[in-house]
Amino acid sequence: MSEPVIRMENIVKTYYLGKPNELEILHGINLTVNKGEFTAIMGASGSGKSTLLNVVSTIDRVSAGEIYVEDNNIAEMKETQLSAFRRDKLGFIFQEYNLLDTLTVGENITLPLNLKGVSLSKTKQALEVISKELGVYDQLDKFPYELSGGQRQRVACARAIITSPAIVLADEPTGALDSKNSRILMQTFELMNKSLNSTILVVTHDAVVGSYADRVLFLKDGNIWSEVNRGDRDRKTMYREILSVMAALGGDADVR
Ligand code: ADP
Ligand code: MG
Repeated sequence: MSEPVIRMENIVKTYYLGKPNELEILHGINLTVNKGEFTAIMGASGSGKSTLLNVVSTIDRVSAGEIYVEDNNIAEMKETQLSAFRRDKLGFIFQEYNLLDTLTVGENITLPLNLKGVSLSKTKQALEVISKELGVYDQLDKFPYELSGGQRQRVACARAIITSPAIVLADEPTGALDSKNSRILMQTFELMNKSLNSTILVVTHDAVVGSYADRVLFLKDGNIWSEVNRGDRDRKTMYREILSVMAALGGDADVR
């Protein structure tokens, strides 16, 4: 179980705002995510959550330190290598779904396989397995606008995992959902994690979302401040512990 998928070593991120102003946002983060682990990153608005996720997702580059995804050192990759790496190794779930309106649900889900040139028969097979597992099999011929927000996010999840990525990354995935649909999405994450053994790294300001994770890391001012591990405890207990850490953490921890 402890096979690392991501290893971050002393990650520093500094924004240069024009000489001589520079702003160090992440101050040397060390973090390992193992295969099959469901990890959440929480913390107050401005604590560096998105910055951290963006350097893992290769949207942005680190200023110092190393990030390994499986055995690839992403700091050393060129732009051309990075785009293939993103396509093959990472699954993204965005706040706004990012589904294409003119494609059916099925076409949206299989888009990453089409871009990779996977054969039609393999694509069909993968679509059937994933869509049944995530409960969107009956919606494959519909268009995104015919679905609720929660269903759309399920479709986005199916699209993110159809390539069997090394890790699924999500920044505030429930940000556009009401509490009922947020719960449905988190149950989908749970399903992806438990039934399909997906490795998940999610950034959230929401304690309910965090309570579904195996462990929650709390960022404060660009450092990892605390960690809560689920162990054998149920979700309600995890939720209460997250709330107590948030209270101790101070600041507007429940605001994005
Ligand atoms: P969070 O996602 O936890 O709310 P962010 O990672 O978005 O926090 O931001 C952390 C800090 O970095 C904030 O103070 C923010 O203003 C700053 N920041 C983010 N992006 C930039 C940028 N491109 N240039 C300068 N400062 C930035
Ligand atoms: Mg953010």
